[in-house]
Amino acid sequence: MVMNLSKYFEWELGVLKEAVNLAGLPSEVFDYLSKPDRIIQVKIPLRLDNGKLVVFEGYRVQHNNALGPYKGGIRYHPEVTLETDMALALGMTLKNSLAGIPYGGGKGAVKVDPSKLSMRELEALSRTYVRGIYKLIGPEEDIPAPDVNTNPQIMAWMVDEYSKLTGKNVPAVFTAKPPELWGNPVRIYSTGYGVAVMAKEAADLWMGGLKDKKVAVHGFGNVGSYAAYWISKFGAKVIAISNAYGSVYDPEGIDVELALKSPEILKDVRNYPRGQKSNDPDTILYTDVDILLPCSLENVITAEKAKNIKAKLIVEGANGPTTPDAEKILYSRKDFVAVIPDILANAGGVIMSYLEWVENLQWYFWDEEETRQKLSSIMSNNFNRTNIYWNKLRERHPERLVTMRDAAFALAVERVYTAMKLRGWI
Ligand code: GLU
Repeated sequence: MVMNLSKYFEWELGVLKEAVNLAGLPSEVFDYLSKPDRIIQVKIPLRLDNGKLVVFEGYRVQHNNALGPYKGGIRYHPEVTLETDMALALGMTLKNSLAGIPYGGGKGAVKVDPSKLSMRELEALSRTYVRGIYKLIGPEEDIPAPDVNTNPQIMAWMVDEYSKLTGKNVPAVFTAKPPELWGNPVRIYSTGYGVAVMAKEAADLWMGGLKDKKVAVHGFGNVGSYAAYWISKFGAKVIAISNAYGSVYDPEGIDVELALKSPEILKDVRNYPRGQKSNDPDTILYTDVDILLPCSLENVITAEKAKNIKAKLIVEGANGPTTPDAEKILYSRKDFVAVIPDILANAGGVIMSYLEWVENLQWYFWDEEETRQKLSSIMSNNFNRTNIYWNKLRERHPERLVTMRDAAFALAVERVYTAMKLRGWI
């Protein structure tokens, strides 16, 4: 089959190839990992409230399970393609490996705009998707979770559908469930929290701490809103936020707690009561800030846009927001510190999923404080390990630009390779 690879997948494969090389691994590791283990494509017929029948398309890409069950979210998006899903699944294999958790990588998607569906339609769609994939998932096979436009309520419907189909309660097959149904209260904010922890680690190490550092947050969904909340809790000042409809800039600082509590602002940030508004979400990329948190989608920071970015530190809350060309332009600036890559920076969600899965397997739960502590120490430890490895690679290759992303990918692929070698796959 000839595939029209999306740009994102193409450049992700480029970084992987380089990482295999940097880690000194045989090139066949790249050949092995450039294709997923399995692609499941399902048809999702849905009877709309108005009586019309529409047919949606869904995927589950199982990329690699050398380190453990496939693990990764399910995205609902009108523009998602199989190629994007394949790129995201590979990203999960690397993210989970780098995080040090016992998972391989997978990702699911449904090509749909969920904002156009009623609650009943959304529930029916989610349950039909599970019926399409349930034979190939399970707590020890493949463990989905939310991603863009999916949430704990959807996980509750999915875990219920799976439990009905298998005739028993199976909490550990989906993660990020509501706390009232086998979930953990930390999970809802864990990705954003982890992004803020990463920003804190980086700022402590390279920028004299987070205190009063100016921050812009691109994307104000689950990741961006909680990243903004926690980074301000850690002492930084969020002065610009944006979402799909536009942006707000307030040099006095955005009241993130107010924004988080308001459904109108969460829906459209231009409903924030103060500051300068714009209809262009991208204006805040160029704001004079110390730290930029891209928390929306892939391919947001392109080479063209990177030229006008002033932030010294970028912490990727989204998956794949910075293109390789953009990254080169950023690192060529003397005052630029680093791009903390997605697979390191936004791993808080899946690390928390791991903790929830461990709880579910034992039917035993930690409290919120204890769980957050565990998550925070895993994240900080991962930052330090990656940074040490980055320094080592830069010393080894003084002739070339080695980014923190290169180091993160190399460290991640090394662990997958070792597992595959030990299992006799390669
Ligand atoms: N969708 C999240 C990610 O991209 C979380 C996945 C999970 O918890 O399995 O990392």
